[in-house]
Amino acid sequence: MTIYQNLIAGEWIGSDATKNINPSDTNEVVGLYADGSAEDTKNAIAAAKAAFPSWSRSGIWERHVILKKAGDEIMARKDELGALLAREEGKTLPEAIGETIRASQIFEFFAGEVLRLAGETIPSVRPNIGVEITRDPLGVIGIITPWNFPIAIPAWKIAPALCYGNTIVFKPAELVPACSWAIVDILHRAGLPKGVLNLVMGKGSVVGQAMLDSPDVAGITFTGSTGTGKRVAAASLEHNRKFQLEMGGKNPMVVLDDADLNVAVEAAANSGFFSTGQRCTASSRLIVTEGIHDKFVAALTAKLETLIVDNAMKSGTHIGPVVDEKQLKTDTDYIEIGKKEGAKLAFGGEVLKRDTPGFYLQPTLFTEATNQMRISREEIFGPVVSVIRVKDYEEALATANDTPFGLSSGIATTSLKHATHFKRNAEAGMVMVNLPTAGVDFHVPFGGRKGSSYGPREQGKYAAEFYTSVKTSYTLA
Ligand code: ADP
Repeated sequence: MTIYQNLIAGEWIGSDATKNINPSDTNEVVGLYADGSAEDTKNAIAAAKAAFPSWSRSGIWERHVILKKAGDEIMARKDELGALLAREEGKTLPEAIGETIRASQIFEFFAGEVLRLAGETIPSVRPNIGVEITRDPLGVIGIITPWNFPIAIPAWKIAPALCYGNTIVFKPAELVPACSWAIVDILHRAGLPKGVLNLVMGKGSVVGQAMLDSPDVAGITFTGSTGTGKRVAAASLEHNRKFQLEMGGKNPMVVLDDADLNVAVEAAANSGFFSTGQRCTASSRLIVTEGIHDKFVAALTAKLETLIVDNAMKSGTHIGPVVDEKQLKTDTDYIEIGKKEGAKLAFGGEVLKRDTPGFYLQPTLFTEATNQMRISREEIFGPVVSVIRVKDYEEALATANDTPFGLSSGIATTSLKHATHFKRNAEAGMVMVNLPTAGVDFHVPFGGRKGSSYGPREQGKYAAEFYTSVKTSYTLA
């Protein structure tokens, strides 16, 4: 089998490889992907550092052409790349194609954005002096990504980093190297000068750690677990380096008595269970007022009965497998914890067997949960959702905000008053009214507060806040 290698200083290198396994069919090896070392990472950082002076001063048209070519190729290959994504991560083929389209759109957006780079000219408070405010690229950016969006998250970090003139060392999650390799191959062939984008696949504890320990990495953008996020933060402070963290969520969706029942059930089913609940914006707490509680639970349970859990590549599958055995164990452990804590298992909870051997889990709904239970406080990252019954809107809002996280927060209501109040008072970076808490646009800011995120927002023009450093110049005229 071919080994898909790391890209360091414009050369494909590496002979040690790890198997990439399909979670829908563990007999299938998606490919062999290089297992980079700390030495490889150091070489990649050195290459990115060497490429920076020239790339940071490259013309915006050169950057536009490369970003646009990459966006166009990803779109032209959306079915093939979507299938690769579905096979390595386990989300359904339509979800995976959707994510691939989104990655293309992100490159197209930044291909446009690079042509609009601008600064400000401002009069000084002193006579005969002009003030200019411009943005410089940071330097070498370390990109560390998780497994749950194998093409979109790399795209939303790589595209702005290149757009604003940075060079990159990119380390994807161990479980999903294939989509990352494909994007890097596309950008390399699109004409990026050598060393501008380096790919080092390998272990977090080796490759990731080598990035954290390097004084030559000027910024790290990280999406992953809270534990690793804290390591990124501590190591970055040590080097006085800029960093941006996107970590967990325990996103609430409030359902009020006056909600449109269909809208509420569709939004809850989508954001709780689609993509196998493996989205940091998934709703894992459904906070439901008394008057609609029983009707809502009955309708959501009826909806869950219709959802097909099967091989991600099979047409008709609504929910693919859990990503791997370790995550499946986490999910089933939390299901046991929920039962022991006294929540009522209203639906699911069983590991399933399908035609192909994989990590299949029923969508699982707990009712009679409290907001203090571990299943309501800790991120599970699987298709496991708890329903918390509350008296009224005020209690619902207080419960929604009573969490260490603050990524996305949703409400289903037909009341303009409550929707408006909720948008103002939800302690989250993103608020959804009558929509799933997951599923966001590619051209507007993404991020949260409290334990979910740290640093500037990602995506859209707000990405400049992280990928550039502001400079103020004074000139005596
Ligand atoms: P998850 O539990 O979702 O896998 P992780 O935080 O472990 O979340 O992984 C997110 C990314 O962080 C992955 O690319 C992983 O390899 C990387 N990573 C893990 N440990 C470290 C570390 N010590 N230093 C840097 N990166 C790491």
